[in-house]
Amino acid sequence: MHNSWTVADSAELYGVNAWGAGYFSVSEQGHAQVTVPTEDGKATVSLMDIVAGMRARSLEMPVVLRIRNLLDHRIKVLNETFAGAIERGGYQNVYRGVFPIKVNQQCHVIEEIATYGSRYHHGFEAGSKAELIIALSQLRDTESLIVCNGYKDAEFIDLGLYARRMGYPCFFVLESLGELRMIIERSRALQVEPLIGVRMKSSVKVDGHWSQDSGDRSIFGLSTPALITAIDELREAGMLHCLQMLHCHLGSQVPNIRNVRNGVLEACRFYAGLVEEGAPMGYLDLGGGLAVDYEGARTNSTHSMNYQLEEYCVNIVESIRETFDPLEIPHPVIVSESGRATVAYSSMLLFNVLDVRSWEPQLRKAALPEDCSEALKNIQEVLSVVGRDNFQECYNDALFYRDEVREQFQHGQASLRERALADDICLAILQRIAALVPELSRVPPELENLPELLSDIYYGNFSLFQSLPDIWAIDQVFPIMPLHRLDEEPVRRGMLADLTCDCDGKIDNFSLPEGAVSTLPLHPLRDDEDYTLGVFLVGAYQETLGDLHNLFGDTNVVNVAINADGSFDFAREFHGDSIADVLSYVEYEPKHLQEQFRQVAEGAVRSGRISVAERQVILRAFHDSLHGYTYFEHH
Ligand SMILES: *Cc1c(COP(=O)(O)O)cnc(C)c1O
Repeated sequence: MHNSWTVADSAELYGVNAWGAGYFSVSEQGHAQVTVPTEDGKATVSLMDIVAGMRARSLEMPVVLRIRNLLDHRIKVLNETFAGAIERGGYQNVYRGVFPIKVNQQCHVIEEIATYGSRYHHGFEAGSKAELIIALSQLRDTESLIVCNGYKDAEFIDLGLYARRMGYPCFFVLESLGELRMIIERSRALQVEPLIGVRMKSSVKVDGHWSQDSGDRSIFGLSTPALITAIDELREAGMLHCLQMLHCHLGSQVPNIRNVRNGVLEACRFYAGLVEEGAPMGYLDLGGGLAVDYEGARTNSTHSMNYQLEEYCVNIVESIRETFDPLEIPHPVIVSESGRATVAYSSMLLFNVLDVRSWEPQLRKAALPEDCSEALKNIQEVLSVVGRDNFQECYNDALFYRDEVREQFQHGQASLRERALADDICLAILQRIAALVPELSRVPPELENLPELLSDIYYGNFSLFQSLPDIWAIDQVFPIMPLHRLDEEPVRRGMLADLTCDCDGKIDNFSLPEGAVSTLPLHPLRDDEDYTLGVFLVGAYQETLGDLHNLFGDTNVVNVAINADGSFDFAREFHGDSIADVLSYVEYEPKHLQEQFRQVAEGAVRSGRISVAERQVILRAFHDSLHGYTYFEHH
C-alpha cells in the first residue's frame, strides 16, 4: 500500500534524529530503538523488545521506562565535558556536580546517581529536610558536595551540621538573614563549623519559561544590602571564614547561551566582591539551567537550546578565568546543579491507544425521510456539488442549512434523526473541503483550522495530570512518537486525549520538524494489535509533580539496564498504585470499603435480588478491582 514510505521518512517526520541526541532512532524494522554507549562501542535495543518483555511480566501499560545506561551516560558526559574544558582552558581547579533532588526524587534514580556518580564525586542539592535525608542516606563518598537550599529550620540545620561533623562538605546556602542567625546559634550549640554559601539575585534577564527566577523581584536569594548585612554579621560572629560559596541560579531550561554567559560574568563580580570583603570563598555554584533540546531545533526558543554542552562548559570556564585572572583571584571549584539535563533522557512514558474518534460521517448511506424539510434537502444538494471551484460558497451554505435544521429541531419541527442527518451531511461537506485546503494557494482564514477541527482524537491509556504534569501546567513540549509501524506511512493526524474526563487532559501541541502543530501524524489502529506510543525525555520533573486527578495513580515503572552485547535486564520493576492505594490517599480504608460493599451485597441476598452464589462472584469482582491497576487493563 504505502510501499514508498521508509523508516527514514518516519525519522524525518518525527525529528527523532534531532531530539534523540544519538540515543533514540528508528530501526530497519520500523521500531523506535535506543542506543547506549558501552565500554568499547555501543549497544542498540528495540523499545518494542522491551515492551514485549514487560507484557510477558504482566507489567501493563502505561509504564514509565527508565534506561539506566542513559542516566549514567549523562552524568559521565557532564563531568567529562567540564573536565575537558578545564584542562584545555588551563583552569586551576575542578568541577563538582550536584544533582538537585527535586528534579527526580525516585529512589532508584537517586541511588544510581549516588553510586555511578561517586567516581566523579557527584553530590546532591537538597531543597528541604526530606531531600537532605535522602542525600545523607545515599551518599557514601565524602568528597561529594551536599548543597542545602531552601528555607531551613533548626532541625534542618542540625542535620546539615551533623553531616559536616561526619566529614561531608555540606553547604548551607543562605536564603534569608533570619536563617543566618539560626545557623550561627546552632553551630555554636553543636560546636560544628558550618560551610556557608550565599545566594545572589541575578539581574540577568533570561529567555524561556523561568525568566522570573532571576531579577530583583525573584523570590529567592539575598538582595545586595542583605548580602552585605550577612557579611557584617558573620564577621561580627567571627565566622566570616565559613563563607566559602556563592550560589547563583538563573532558572531552569535557559535556552540562550548568551544568558548563561552574562549570568556567569555577573556571578563572578559578586564572587570578587565577597573576596574583597574578606571571605575566603572557594566554590562558585552556578545552579541549574542547562537546557534540554526537547524539539531538536537548536534554537533559543523555550523548549530548545541554542548551544551544546561543550559550549556551555567552555563558556563557564573561560568567563571565570577571564574575570579572575586580572584580579589575581584563585580559580574556584566550579559547581553546577544540572537536573533536567542529567535525568530527562533516561525516562520515557509508554502507553497504548485505546480508541480513536474520527470525525467521519456515519449515516451517509441513509436516505432522507420523504417528508423532510427543505433545509435538509438543500444540505444534501450542497454535498453533491461541493468542489474546488465552489468550496467557499458550499462551506457557508452547509453551515447555514445545518443551523436551520438545528433551529427546527429546537422548535420541535425536525426529529432527532433529521438533526443527526443534517450534522452528518455537514460533516461530510467539511471533510471534502478540508481535503482541498492543503492544495489551495490562498486559504481563507475561516478554513485554516478546518483540518485540525476535523482531525482524529486518539485516546491514550495514561493520565496527563499524573504522568506529564508540565504539559498541563506550563505547556511543556515533549517529543512523542509511535514505537512501531514506523516503516508505514502514518496517514492519519490526531491529537491525544488521556483517560481523565477533563478537557485539559489532552495533548494538542507538538513540535515537529515541520513546525509547531496541534496534531501528530499517526497510524490507523489495527484490530489485532496494540498501538503503542512513547513520550520521550520525561525524566525531569514529571514523576512527582503528578497528581491523582480522577484517582489515576502512579504508573508501573521498569528500570532496564542494557548490556554490551545488546541484551538487557529488567533491573527493577515497581508496580504502580492499585485502586486501594489511591483510595487510601484520600482517606478511605480499603478493608472498610470491602466490608461496606459486603453489607450491600448481603442486603441484596436478603431481599432476594441475587443468590448467595452471585454474591460471591460480585464480591470477588469488587475485590479484584480494588486491588487492580488504576488504568485501563486488558484481560
Ligand atoms: C530547580 C533547581 C535546579 C535544577 O535546574 P535544572 O534546570 O533542572 O538543571 C538547580 N538549582 C536550583 C536552586 C533549583 O531550584
